Amino acid sequence: MNTEKAYAANLDQQDKLAKFRDEFYIPHDTIYLDGNSLGLLSKRAEQAIEDMVKSWKQYAIDGWTEGDEPWYYLSEKLGAMSAPLIGAEAKEVVVTGSTTTNLHQLSASFYKPGGTRTKILADALNFPSDIYALKSQLQLKGYDPDDHLIQVESKDGNILDTRDIVSAMTDDVALIVLPAVLYRSGQVLDMKTLTHEAHKRGIPIGFDLCHSIGSVPHQLSDWGVDFALWCTYKHLNAGPGSVAGLYVNRKHFGHEPGLAGWFSSSKEKQFDMEHTLTPAQNAGAYQIGTPHLLSAAPLLGSLEMFTKAGIANIRQKSLLLTHYLMELIESELTGYGFTIANPKSETERGGHVFLEHPDAARICKALKADGVIPDFRKPNGIRLAPVALYNTFTDVWETIQILKTIMDEERYKYFENERGIIA
Ligand SMILES: *Cc1c(COP(=O)(O)O)cnc(C)c1O
Repeated sequence: MNTEKAYAANLDQQDKLAKFRDEFYIPHDTIYLDGNSLGLLSKRAEQAIEDMVKSWKQYAIDGWTEGDEPWYYLSEKLGAMSAPLIGAEAKEVVVTGSTTTNLHQLSASFYKPGGTRTKILADALNFPSDIYALKSQLQLKGYDPDDHLIQVESKDGNILDTRDIVSAMTDDVALIVLPAVLYRSGQVLDMKTLTHEAHKRGIPIGFDLCHSIGSVPHQLSDWGVDFALWCTYKHLNAGPGSVAGLYVNRKHFGHEPGLAGWFSSSKEKQFDMEHTLTPAQNAGAYQIGTPHLLSAAPLLGSLEMFTKAGIANIRQKSLLLTHYLMELIESELTGYGFTIANPKSETERGGHVFLEHPDAARICKALKADGVIPDFRKPNGIRLAPVALYNTFTDVWETIQILKTIMDEERYKYFENERGIIA
């Protein structure tokens, strides 16, 4: 292992994606490793927001059909631009809602309890919002979440075993919802195998791609995944509260969505104003109301960069960055009490490294005070996400030097070992 700074500089020189860094606003004197919580603003996203405001100013009501990006078709256009990131057809994707509302919509559409098949299968490590949504979907159908939500446990609290999930796919399961990448440990689930096993048992399956889209490639169509949903403010850098996305496999086109609204309509029929819905014959049917255009706009700029860079190249660089980070941790930070708790293999490792340490909360505060932005996850986790489009190998090298100094000088002891309001 070469621990010299020159080695990092050399990796940066060979990096074909290095030019994208200049497209972003990197906070001054900061090493930003939190792009899996909130991605940075790019110049293209900023421009796209300004263009949206201008189109409103210039066209008023006619902006729905006129201008460079007619608003009426924008959600579908952004869906088509997102499709290559997840291995889907353009018509299978639409940009709409938020992660949580999309999960409600898709559960309302795909959770069809009947006879003895009434349960929902999830996992014990998913993000709370997903679990709350699934519990309320059970309650809406009159089932008690205490005995109708099955949550597959992890043996070590960080990693799920595919075999455990498959064994939980019993005859009473009506729907499966799992994350593509776990938000803490960064584990990539084997979506292909899980989908195959679910379908062998006649169970529809959907994935939450919040932590994978824009960082890890998917082949959702090929795998036959029934549905998926994701946010766009993490690896997709579309800004706080930006409009989310969803995918529905084409084999499900033509059905009424669980939660209907006039934007579920076929575009041609929508303004006939009939009281009988004619649903769009594509993923657009899962929209509900008028799109939030001001917070969808930044995606137009942001997704252009993903198109140019290519998700395969992004994944390749991301793996090199996290590999380099893990190697430096293992050679420079031994004896300080850190454990690398993410899976190390390339097939199972997502876009971030997950370190555990009893003083994690205050180590994160000390890192922030020194210009490195990680994030803390209760009770003892530090997530470090070097992002392919804007982080460098030198960022990774410097982070390790800073962390080593914090540990050597015990600088974290100046801080309380508790999380802030947002962590
Ligand atoms: C970020 C994230 C969310 C957030 O949901 P919102 O509706 O965007 O607030 C939900 N689930 C997972 C797995 C996430 O990573």
